[in-house]
Amino acid sequence: MTKVYYNGDVNDYVLSNKKVAVIGYGSQGHAHAQNLRESGVDVIVGLRQGKSWEQAKQDGLPVFSVSEASEQADVVMVLLPDEYQPKVYKEEIEPALKPGNALVFAHGFNVHFSQIVPPSYVDVFLVAPKGPGHLVRRTYREGAGVPALFAVEQDVTGNAKEIALAYAKGIGSARAGVLETTFQEETETDLFGEQAVLCGGLTSLVKAGFETLVEAGYQPEVAYFECLHELKLIVDLMYEDGMAGMRYSISDTAQWGDFVSGPRVVNDQVKAEMKEVLKDIQTGKFAKGWILENQANRPEFNAINKRENEHQIEVVGRKLREMMPFVKQREAKDVVVSNA
Ligand code: NDP
Ligand code: MG
Ligand code: MG
Repeated sequence: MTKVYYNGDVNDYVLSNKKVAVIGYGSQGHAHAQNLRESGVDVIVGLRQGKSWEQAKQDGLPVFSVSEASEQADVVMVLLPDEYQPKVYKEEIEPALKPGNALVFAHGFNVHFSQIVPPSYVDVFLVAPKGPGHLVRRTYREGAGVPALFAVEQDVTGNAKEIALAYAKGIGSARAGVLETTFQEETETDLFGEQAVLCGGLTSLVKAGFETLVEAGYQPEVAYFECLHELKLIVDLMYEDGMAGMRYSISDTAQWGDFVSGPRVVNDQVKAEMKEVLKDIQTGKFAKGWILENQANRPEFNAINKRENEHQIEVVGRKLREMMPFVKQREAKDVVVSNA
């Protein structure tokens, strides 16, 4: 079993004489900056003028331009959207890095796919919470944390691992458990998970089930409840107690159907396709396509997004959820997360 690090395994003194610049104040940025400050770390925020700048100031944090914050800091955590990181890094962060500084990420994409090539004289590591930023903040305030992965890509000070762990503790993740990985493993498994299972696999499964029922003449509202709404109850059970715990709670009929029909739906052909998806991630084909799509201002992304929002399951769902105000338990800002 791989080693899991907790608060007691971490020396925070390695961060005690360092200034940390959190670049970006979005989903992850606001959570890291505020949690670190409350953990006693000297934190500043690096931003462009705009909405986030005002928010960070309102939250009482010292805010500077990206280059000024990077200039002042010993540890620079890059929490901008992945697509914009290479440009901002090249123009405003890299020129400010000094020997012995640490350059930190929350996702390995840009370093792993060489969109950012850090200089040889800084530590490079990642600390990636396995949850959305608003949960990183909320759980910290509740005295808990979101588990995280960390990975060291470059260790020039000899302290990179300790600094990474201290950072993970500062954002509350060492209360929940921190696991060591590599940039390659974090990047490839994160992309695969969101594509094949968590986001892509799930939305396609739900839509296919919904369409099958509606095409067979059943009411869309009933199909919505069966294929989308009830999903949360099942996922919660799996989250708490694994598949066996979920199966304990459902009827024996449901469990028998699970056993005999599940493998017919997600069959060997689906698994073979998952292996192709993984191959495209490993070879860099997926990354290349996404980088080109961004360079062209996202024509396909925007077209698909529009089409998806107009799908019948979304139209029916919006109406039904209006009649179930209790469904929306989260604050509106918690709902908008850009990354799985
Ligand atoms: P967000 O989209 O929430 O971050 C946006 C922030 O970046 C805003 O503060 C925005 O400021 C700022 N920003 C955007 N462009 C610029 C620019 N050119 N110059 C200065 N500031 C800019 O990002 P996330 O928090 O979702 O992601 C950050 C990193 O964390 C990514 O690497 C992601 O992969 C990783 N991650 C994210 C997770 C998540 O749950 N969201 C989970 C785990 C990792 P403004 O208001 O001015 O636009
Ligand atoms: Mg049922
Ligand atoms: Mg991701």
